[in-house]
Amino acid sequence: MANQFKKHEPADVAVSVLTETLPKEAQDTRFGAVLAAIQEHMIYSETDARGRITRVNSAFCALSGFDEDELIGSFHNVVNSGTHDPAFWSTFWKTIRSGQAWHGEICNRTKNGSFYWVDSVILPLRGLDGQIDRFVSIRTDITDKKRAENALSRMGRVVEHSANEVFVFDAESLKFMLVNRGARDNLGYEAAELLHLTPVDIKPELDEATFRNMIAPLICGEVDMLSFQTIHQRKDGSQYPCDIDLHYAGTEKPPIFLAFVQDISQRRDNEEKMRRLALFDPLTGLANRAHLQQHLAKAFQYPDRRLHLFYLDLNRFKQINDTFGHATGDEVLRVVSNRLAASMTDARLIARLGGDEFVVLHDAINPDRVVLDAERLLTVLSCPIVIDGRRHLIGGSIGFARYPEDCTSSEELLQVADIAMYDAKIRETGLSIYNADMKSRIEARQRISERLALALDEDALSLAFQPFIDLSSDSLIGVEALLRWVDAELGNVPPAEIISIAQEYRLLRRLGRWVVAAACKAIMGWEDKGLAVPFPISINVAAEQLEDGSILRDITDMCEVYGVRPEQIEIELTESIMLKAPEDARQVVLGLQKLGVKVAIDDFGTGYSSLALLMQFSADKLKIDNSFITDLFADSPSFKIVEATIALAKGLGCIVVAEGIETQTQADILQRLGCGAGQGFFFDRPLPAKIFSERWLKPVAQTEFSPA
Ligand code: C2E
Ligand code: MG
Ligand code: MG
Repeated sequence: MANQFKKHEPADVAVSVLTETLPKEAQDTRFGAVLAAIQEHMIYSETDARGRITRVNSAFCALSGFDEDELIGSFHNVVNSGTHDPAFWSTFWKTIRSGQAWHGEICNRTKNGSFYWVDSVILPLRGLDGQIDRFVSIRTDITDKKRAENALSRMGRVVEHSANEVFVFDAESLKFMLVNRGARDNLGYEAAELLHLTPVDIKPELDEATFRNMIAPLICGEVDMLSFQTIHQRKDGSQYPCDIDLHYAGTEKPPIFLAFVQDISQRRDNEEKMRRLALFDPLTGLANRAHLQQHLAKAFQYPDRRLHLFYLDLNRFKQINDTFGHATGDEVLRVVSNRLAASMTDARLIARLGGDEFVVLHDAINPDRVVLDAERLLTVLSCPIVIDGRRHLIGGSIGFARYPEDCTSSEELLQVADIAMYDAKIRETGLSIYNADMKSRIEARQRISERLALALDEDALSLAFQPFIDLSSDSLIGVEALLRWVDAELGNVPPAEIISIAQEYRLLRRLGRWVVAAACKAIMGWEDKGLAVPFPISINVAAEQLEDGSILRDITDMCEVYGVRPEQIEIELTESIMLKAPEDARQVVLGLQKLGVKVAIDDFGTGYSSLALLMQFSADKLKIDNSFITDLFADSPSFKIVEATIALAKGLGCIVVAEGIETQTQADILQRLGCGAGQGFFFDRPLPAKIFSERWLKPVAQTEFSPA
């Protein structure tokens, strides 16, 4: 029976059934066949006039999940899902009770609680008495269609509420047809206003012809999607960068374009922030090392490019950082950076490489200007930096190098400028212009510094002791401890070189402490042997030891460790150290004097010969520099200077010691001039501790001191 009937649309069936007015037997034969067909192909049920189910077909049972037995006799609302509101049902009942067919979509519920949708036609049928005595419902399952519709409308809602901007515009006129809320909000237009605009109206960078050219490949199917970046302009005139993905839907009627737009201002900001972080020093705002390297790499791509570079390192920065803390250190770096930027306005790039190292990169500078520019930089740096009312004196050392004259690569340019900078550190001027010899010299110094560090670790240094002799009695009145280092690889390294390398490679603090300890050990050793040391041992002190105060700590500590009294120690400070010493360093000297440590001014006459210094520090000794003694003969300029110095120093109560006496004549002249004491090869060379004690020291019982 299954396929022998033509399938009817529910509405057609409804019409034919409603017009049925035939007597019962006729209905049973003609109408019965129709019903049978419907029941076979549709979801079919019948209820009585009160809605109680009297008949269901298998399709109904299959969809609802109920057995026929469970359904027959139940009210039809057994499958009610509760989805529809009372108004819906009221219209429904009103319609069918008035004898009209009802057609609509109903959401029902299966036995296990899931929902299904049916397209339903409900037909009221009248009995012979003309009264409606049953309702026939004929349904089709539209659950899948409903789901799809739902998904579509949900999709619509999602798109509408998406923060991304979605635009639909007509492919021909380009007029917007749909613009979602994200886009409307960002652009500041109402939906209705946008219907009169096209994408070109909100893209200040593009005109219509250009835009049409751009989208042409989409229309002709050359590409599926067009991605590009552009600028959108808001109603208020402000603009934002955006990423656009454009699709063409040619099968739509009319054909449309669909644009997904993402405002990338935030991303751009973040990218800019990341770029700044990657390429700029956050503390000073100057370019960082990576930026400099990038810049150099680019510059080196041009074969004719000439580059000149100043490599700058601050002096005393570490001390400021250590003494006053990092906040002060940071502020110093910021001030220095500002000064650099303000004074080097024609530089290609100014970068901070890290720590207290900076680079100023120029296109070629006229050779005459190099020294001037460097001096300008150094002057700018030497102005005191005032932080929290405190003046900080900071200087700099500058190395200068050129490409292509001094190097072949950007790395090498930095390297050789750095070498020159190291060289500058040991020069008075603070500037050094790179030359090829410098490299081997620096490498040699580097090697020496490594060996020196090792020597300090292994206690492989020593002190030599040279006597000071009273010129009138030839008796011993003091001794100077002089640094000695004979390295297995380097041989004898002169003390002046050791000191300068220790300064450069930051070994001076360790070295200074070692010297104090060794001097104390020597005193202790001699005294332990019962020898008298009735005078202080003089040790030479470098500027840094005063500036960082380490000499005060070292002497205090070592006196305690070796049981030496501070009065047994004398520090020798050169005039230049004393003259340049900042206030803090002066306080360190006064602190040492308070402890009982003696002070001698070394190499007097080589600096400013400032007798005021002697007064200021009430120095105990004044040592006239070797250079005056070498050419000391009657009426020589040295003679007059030495004579005057002796007279003035005596007036201040200082012992005058002449350094570098090599001959009897020199000793005689000095004695005649009234010089109290002398030091020099004439009396003895600097000696190892043991030989010195054997030759010069006497047991405690004896009071006379003379060479053995
Ligand atoms: P200085 O303090 O002026 O030491 C005197 C220098 O003159 C010593 O040179 C000594 O050997 C040398 N000398 C002594 N008598 C004569 C002489 O009759 N003729 C000549 N031509 N020279 C004589 P040295 O030992 O080479 O020391 C050189 C400088 O190195 C010292 O000059 C001192 O400034 C520095 N120095 C030595 N040891 C130390 C140290 O432990 N610490 C520091 N900071 N500097 C030191
Ligand atoms: Mg000395
Ligand atoms: Mg000296």
